[in-house]
Amino acid sequence: MSRFLAERYASLEAYTPGEQPTDMKYIKLNTNESPFPPSPAVIRAISEESVRALRLYPDPECGALKAALAEHFGFEKRNIFVSNGSDDILNFSFMAFCDGKKCGVAFPEISYGFYQVYADLYGVDAKKIPLASDFSVRAEDYLNVGRTVVIANPNAPTGIALSKNEIERIVASNPDHIVLIDEAYVDFGAESAVELVHKYDNLLVVRTYSKSYSLAGGRLGFAIGSEALIDDLNRIKYSTNPYNVNRLTLLAGVAAMEEHDYYMNHCRTIEANRAYTTDALTALGFEVLPSRANFVFARSPRIGGEQLYLELKRRGILVRHFKTESIREFNRITIGTLDEMKSLVAAVEEILTATGAND
Ligand code: PMP
Repeated sequence: MSRFLAERYASLEAYTPGEQPTDMKYIKLNTNESPFPPSPAVIRAISEESVRALRLYPDPECGALKAALAEHFGFEKRNIFVSNGSDDILNFSFMAFCDGKKCGVAFPEISYGFYQVYADLYGVDAKKIPLASDFSVRAEDYLNVGRTVVIANPNAPTGIALSKNEIERIVASNPDHIVLIDEAYVDFGAESAVELVHKYDNLLVVRTYSKSYSLAGGRLGFAIGSEALIDDLNRIKYSTNPYNVNRLTLLAGVAAMEEHDYYMNHCRTIEANRAYTTDALTALGFEVLPSRANFVFARSPRIGGEQLYLELKRRGILVRHFKTESIREFNRITIGTLDEMKSLVAAVEEILTATGAND
């Protein structure tokens, strides 16, 4: 830290992204990316001509992409906000909708780590609501909370999802506060709350192209909400960085919507690979939480979470381990191709044998 850093950031604990090592080629199952490339239309969209056009600023309104998203989801452009990854939208939402003095925020105690970072960044009082003993989010805990509510659905890193009805109960019981549903992983078998935006002006649904749309490196996210909420987000965007989505990413986003089936077919493949992985790990004695996401969260009574993570890394397989006490025996394993998952299962089996954990 330099002596010039603003005092209010001196004790800020930043988010730790998953490792992106370059020392060797890993089977990368640690940051929930898609194992599949973007669709053909996306690859075609990044043409020499589009690269030449990079001399010009992008459309700050993201008009073409908003139109494509509005049509796909059955909303108007004014209900859509587009930004540089969904982290950007979460950041703007904490700025816009979590007033420390008026209300503060509530989110699950075990969830996406960035929620706490944004709360700290903006000095927002955060109420962290414990999960149930089966690691699920209990909808009842979020009724009438009197705060902005932020829930990842499916939750991360557990993968467990709430139903649309449960989300609706939460939204309906907090009419004077924003309920933000982070649907980063919804395409892998959970129910979306997007439709409820027609009915509730306090619901903001945040989505990303990073997982189901194979575009983590493009940095693209969007939100769907009432016109007034989208206006608020635009106010923040135009007060910080109006050109925050670059030209190539905008083209990629539009092209991806033209080939929606390509992506949804891959989601079904991921679901099948998730079932394979769950069954195989369960057969090896693991407890695997019931995931609706492109990852599973699993622990073994035979080997510690950190030890398994390190042993897998030694064998060229990266998974995500968290040091938080209540989940430290787990690892979060991204679902990749079937071959990748077979390699993972074989490595786990070998580790259990080599460490004597199989006895
Ligand atoms: N929400 C959740 C629950 C996530 O796991 C992630 C990915 N780390 C994000 C949001 C952010 O995704 P992105 O910024 O790539 O859109």
